Amino acid sequence: MITAQPQSFFQQKNIALRLILVFVLGFTVNREHLCSNQPFVTPTASLPSVPSVIHSSLAKMSFDGNLSFENFEHAARDFGNRYHIMPYAVLYPKSVSDISSIIKCIFQMGLTSDLTVAARGRGHSLQGQAQAYRGVVIIMESLQVPKMSFHNGEVPYVDVSAGELWISILHESLKHGLAPKSWTDYLHLTVGGTLSNAGISGQAFRHGPQINNVYELKVVTGSGQELTCSEDQNTELFHAVLGGLGQFGIITQARIALEAAPKKVKWIRALYSDFSAFTKDQEHLISSENTFDYIEGFVIINRTGLLNYWRSSFKPKDPVQANQFSSEGRILFCLEVAKYFNPEVPDNIDQVRVF
Ligand SMILES: Cc1cc2nc3c(=O)[nH]c(=O)nc-3n(C[C@H](O)[C@H](O)[C@H](O)COP(=O)(O)OP(=O)(O)OC[C@H]3O[C@@H](n4cnc5c(N)ncnc54)[C@H](O)[C@@H]3O)c2cc1C
Repeated sequence: MITAQPQSFFQQKNIALRLILVFVLGFTVNREHLCSNQPFVTPTASLPSVPSVIHSSLAKMSFDGNLSFENFEHAARDFGNRYHIMPYAVLYPKSVSDISSIIKCIFQMGLTSDLTVAARGRGHSLQGQAQAYRGVVIIMESLQVPKMSFHNGEVPYVDVSAGELWISILHESLKHGLAPKSWTDYLHLTVGGTLSNAGISGQAFRHGPQINNVYELKVVTGSGQELTCSEDQNTELFHAVLGGLGQFGIITQARIALEAAPKKVKWIRALYSDFSAFTKDQEHLISSENTFDYIEGFVIINRTGLLNYWRSSFKPKDPVQANQFSSEGRILFCLEVAKYFNPEVPDNIDQVRVF
């Protein structure tokens, strides 16, 4: 086992973990209602045309943003890059009422319209989750309301638009000395996109995934109604939408739980070549009281070439020289932990006892 303490905790992310998550999440898709569950379709495949009566109903609607019937190849792509499902139109909403009015209109057309709807955050999901076969894709990042609104106090939170990126929430909340309680590793994802899945990172063992750290949502339902939901209000909708893969409504706003941001972070990574030792230590740390504030484990595919990127992520303050670590190409396991501390409070951070 070797340890190292590189420089930036929030910004250096491990590619191996992301690949694993992408792989795992890729098997969670089951679209039924609002969105498409069509087989692989290429952008060039010819699609059945939308009846002119439907087209004219939508074309004559007016929006604060706009509805486009062309140049929407980007809405037929996602991170997996295997599914290219062409929509019929793309909505760039500027207001929540843009979203509710198009859904209301499609709802009133009835099932015979056959139009599907999908919200799209960053499109970092797989297998066409954020795509809509011959339907309408709603680009959530163009929704500009509300501006982030912070509430300090005993239970701090921020109200944000569902199209907001987590990286922007981090930057803004740090200005208030706050940070979200639960994260993803990679932060260029939208609030609506991760809350429709789970949102997992090294804080989840303590606070739960991101979907456990939301106080309230505003949602446009499948009939176009704008509803507020929480543990106490429209509870079923609240729990259906969280982790609901976009099947139960479109999240337009979320109230995200915050906590005081740590002043400093001690970041440690430990490499293992023995899987049992790795899981034993990880389970011990997760189940013990008062250990670390962030704990995450991942697999390193230890080969030369691109996948050997993990070595450079240990530089430049690598005390045990991960660069020279000889592992004979075996798969490695990495435990990444962090301890938050305040340098003004006397407390010897280097001597916290965890084993
Ligand atoms: C490089 C990379 C790193 C990742 N790292 C992590 C990680 O550390 N932790 C983790 O948990 N996950 C991680 N993921 C997975 C990622 O969180 C999910 O794929 C997430 O859905 C992507 O967010 P997005 O904004 O791109 O959403 P999209 O891919 O655009 O959408 C995902 C799903 O949510 C629906 N949706 C989007 N917005 C809304 C909305 N406002 N209302 C209702 N439904 C909506 C879409 O219709 C679709 O079904 C990672 C993915 C990648 C590609």
